[in-house]
Amino acid sequence: MPDSMARHSLSFDVEEHFQVSAFESPMRRRHWEQFESRVESNTDKLLDLLNQRGVHATFFVLGWVAERYPSLVRSIASAGHEVASHGYAHELITAQTQVAFREDVRKAKGILENILQQPVLGYRAPSFSITKDTMWAIQILVEEGYVYDSSIFPVMHDRYGVPSANPQVHQLSTQAGLLWEVPPSTVKCLGVRIPIAGGGYFRLYPYKVLRALLRKLEGEGSPLVMYLHPWEFDPDQPRMEGSMLSRIRHYLNLDKTEGRMRALLQDFSFAPIRRVFPQIVPL
Ligand SMILES: [Zn+2]
Repeated sequence: MPDSMARHSLSFDVEEHFQVSAFESPMRRRHWEQFESRVESNTDKLLDLLNQRGVHATFFVLGWVAERYPSLVRSIASAGHEVASHGYAHELITAQTQVAFREDVRKAKGILENILQQPVLGYRAPSFSITKDTMWAIQILVEEGYVYDSSIFPVMHDRYGVPSANPQVHQLSTQAGLLWEVPPSTVKCLGVRIPIAGGGYFRLYPYKVLRALLRKLEGEGSPLVMYLHPWEFDPDQPRMEGSMLSRIRHYLNLDKTEGRMRALLQDFSFAPIRRVFPQIVPL
């Protein structure tokens, strides 16, 4: 199906399995260079899967990854996908100063644009960490030339979320100008807004339950905004130490992601964010 017919957006946050926020620690960060890199092979696997189905998506690539694997960024773009920014160093915004955040998003955009020789307009924060406390990030994104953000999760969660946030695609106004916000999908069930956008939720719910919830949202006329990570397609990744909750969230049902993804691509039609929401800037 051509992208122009697709109703829903699909995106991937491209990072190494050892960079996820659930396992974040200063000690581990110092050892990033020593872990086995799996991001290239995992992303290649994902690109093959999408290519088989003729589906295009948005890839929010971490600057740290792009710097080391520029050819990976070029392969994503040349396969017809949208490339956007996941920041440079995968630090939670809630743990950054405004100066450090600006430096991080500027560096990532510069690296990606230097590789692709075209503007990179979208941003997604590590672990959706634009919260009530870090709303200042929105104006900095505008000032740094970003046109849209996909980081404000309208749910209650221990590490992220703005429960009262607008769940639809909308514009945020700042002193520096407007920024489009593309919130990950949620659905209201019995008065509670629950996340169904992807990641751990995608692996947690039985697929039939997830599909029913996605159909409900689709029936309400809302385009889906879904996300996954290349490491979620890698059940053989080395296990990291961490809290029981983090380990459950990260490793649950990794062996099921690929099969579920194939089913999802069969059941719904997807395209990159800027194709599904051309009001941002058409791709
Ligand atoms: Zn991430």
